[in-house]
Amino acid sequence: MRLIDSHCHLDFPAFDQDRAAVIAHCQTLGVEKMIVVGVTRQHWSRLWDTVSNHDGLYGAFGLHPYFLAEHQDSDIPALVEQLSLYRDHPKLCAVGEIGLDFLLQELDPKQQIHLFEQQVAIAAEFNLPVIIHSRRANAQVTAILKKAKLSRAGIIHAFSGSYEEALEYIKLGFLLGFGGAATWPRATRLQSVLKRLPIASIALETDSPDMPPEWLAGQRNSPEQLPSICQYLADIYGLSSTAFAAQTSTNVQRLFGWTV
Ligand SMILES: [Zn+2]
Repeated sequence: MRLIDSHCHLDFPAFDQDRAAVIAHCQTLGVEKMIVVGVTRQHWSRLWDTVSNHDGLYGAFGLHPYFLAEHQDSDIPALVEQLSLYRDHPKLCAVGEIGLDFLLQELDPKQQIHLFEQQVAIAAEFNLPVIIHSRRANAQVTAILKKAKLSRAGIIHAFSGSYEEALEYIKLGFLLGFGGAATWPRATRLQSVLKRLPIASIALETDSPDMPPEWLAGQRNSPEQLPSICQYLADIYGLSSTAFAAQTSTNVQRLFGWTV
């Protein structure tokens, strides 16, 4: 089985004790590539160190809406500078994690929208895909993406919307990321959306160390869980796990322009 974890945070301290062992184990499990997604300017260098030190890892830089209080105006020009620095580097693959989180009341929507729009414009300028966090904000995210007319689209990470919202993203060329959240028995609505989606629009992810699958409740999630998550989602979807892994990996490879 050949798998790609399209969204993880292997640079987080949760992996400081065993990062190299986790990555080596992933390779033996067939998790060949992992995208490490940025959250704050302060941690971009930690992320890039992680990505540079290990084969199969790719990086994205961005300012996550969850950390709104930490971001400064100067982080936007800093993002442009960071992307310019690694512009032609094969391990730089996207702008992310960016987006809107309207679930958390303390995050000012106006500020979030401003930050998100600026980063989408930067992704367009650098001809990079975007990796998007969207909670209770699919209509607003879709509207912003429509205006931006990105040439390479991206991934809606941990998609949790309706079938109709999924179709809007698919029309814009986006992939929808699925992972641990869909393995919970109570996630029946999400599972029924997954079943109806075209296979060409699905990407697999873990969001590790967060969003553990049902069988790891309360524990650290890891890209090592991707084969089991793939098996679980393939059963829901009605494909063999090998076919599900192969097709979803091809989707991600195509988005990022990876030939092998
Ligand atoms: Zn994330």
